[in-house]
Amino acid sequence: VVQLDSVRKEFGGITALDGVSLEIRPGEAVAVMGPSGSGKSTLLNMIAGLDRPSSGSVVVNGENITRMGEAALARFRRHHIGMVFQFFNLLDDLPALENVALAGRLVGVPARKARARATELLDELGLADRRDAYPAVLSGGERQRVGVARALMNRPALLLADEPTGALDSRTGEQVIDLLLDLNRMGQTLLLVTHDQHLATRCATRLVDFMDGRVVREAALERHEPWIAR
Ligand code: ATP
Ligand code: MG
Repeated sequence: VVQLDSVRKEFGGITALDGVSLEIRPGEAVAVMGPSGSGKSTLLNMIAGLDRPSSGSVVVNGENITRMGEAALARFRRHHIGMVFQFFNLLDDLPALENVALAGRLVGVPARKARARATELLDELGLADRRDAYPAVLSGGERQRVGVARALMNRPALLLADEPTGALDSRTGEQVIDLLLDLNRMGQTLLLVTHDQHLATRCATRLVDFMDGRVVREAALERHEPWIAR
């Protein structure tokens, strides 16, 4: 799904990514860990096409997005990438359903169809009775589930999550991670950034450790399957 080849990213004098090569295969759940400032968010931004490498190449879903034009890149991102954020990034003046449906509207899905899909997703994520609620009245966990629903709206090839539990208490964080785990078990390819080793090992099939803009360690994980662990 993703192939990074010798990706470097510099901001002024700072090297945020120092020659990263990384492949993510369909169905994987990769957890990226590493200290603050090690380049994790920069990596996600490269893959999401939110920022471009100084050198090296980024291929997502078979397309080299490294030198794609702005408009094409925005379209590509909306169609193929789902993003989940630490602080949810929901629109406060839209109810949950409209926050989710909007992702579909932005790729040209008609309003009625987008609402139907959004309704279905919110139902699946246990938010059937929260459709009409505005973000302000939702709990943190509910907000993040709306964020996940929005990210899934266009059936992305890849779900990117940057510290999705960072603003949640540990129990709620675990619930969000378990949701991501379930999605991955159903086939969703996932790339997760987290500081929390416990959460990483709970849902990842592979751990990637970053330090100073480089991959310093990779480890495949044995994931306990549900009939054993849960
Ligand atoms: P954290 O765990 O704190 O989120 P991170 O691993 O996500 O950290 P990045 O945000 O990727 O780290 O930052 C990597 C380096 O690049 C840091 O030194 C940061 O200051 C720098 N950096 C990131 N984005 C920018 C930017 N837009 N402009 C200038 N420097 C940046
Ligand atoms: Mg970060």
